[in-house]
Amino acid sequence: MIIAVDGTLASGKGTVARGIAKAFGLAHLDTGALYRAVAVEVLKAGDDPRDHDAALMAAKTLDPSRIDEIAIRTAEAGAAASVVAAQPDVRSALFDLQRRFAEQEGGAVLDGRDIGTVVCPDADVKFYIDADPRIRAERRWRELTAKGESVQLEDIERQLAERDARDSSRETAPLMRAEDAVLLDTTHLSIDATLAEAVRMIQNKTGVAPRN
Ligand code: C5P
Repeated sequence: MIIAVDGTLASGKGTVARGIAKAFGLAHLDTGALYRAVAVEVLKAGDDPRDHDAALMAAKTLDPSRIDEIAIRTAEAGAAASVVAAQPDVRSALFDLQRRFAEQEGGAVLDGRDIGTVVCPDADVKFYIDADPRIRAERRWRELTAKGESVQLEDIERQLAERDARDSSRETAPLMRAEDAVLLDTTHLSIDATLAEAVRMIQNKTGVAPRN
């Protein structure tokens, strides 16, 4: 079974995807982490994320087992990730890895921006998670400040709008809802309630019961 979870920044898609994986005993891949890791490598080398050769080299040599979870979670890494992710060659370099993960025995949940449209158009169930931009900005601001990053809510709101625009307007694999994806809006629904809804829908559609 393959489950695709796409959505906007800080919509709750990662938490929902992890919860689905746990409920059905599936492997989980946060594909945003791959783009973030590529971006961190480029920045570490002192290169510009817009530098095509540097970004492509980092994507081709990425070792997913050695991703630094702390380094990739900064606001700077997120912004640079969306710049490297707009480059078609970088996306192709990361495609096989994602596809292999999706096809593993036992099934998988992948979350990102283009899972239902490009990486796993064949997914058994597809979700598109979204929420009001202000609510998403507040969530991301709380996450970053809880980790000790000093950031202003207004700056996060501006970055979020920029990132949404860049992710949605790029030519290759833009962020968009697959025609057959179920829209879950987390503006007024808690992430727990959203997860419960997603689990119920997967069971209805596939006939597979969650483990707990
Ligand atoms: O989801 P997250 O914020 O970690 O993703 C970082 C960036 O990686 C996104 O803004 C997007 O540009 C890019 N991304 C992508 N395709 C994916 C996952 C992430 O383009 N499947």
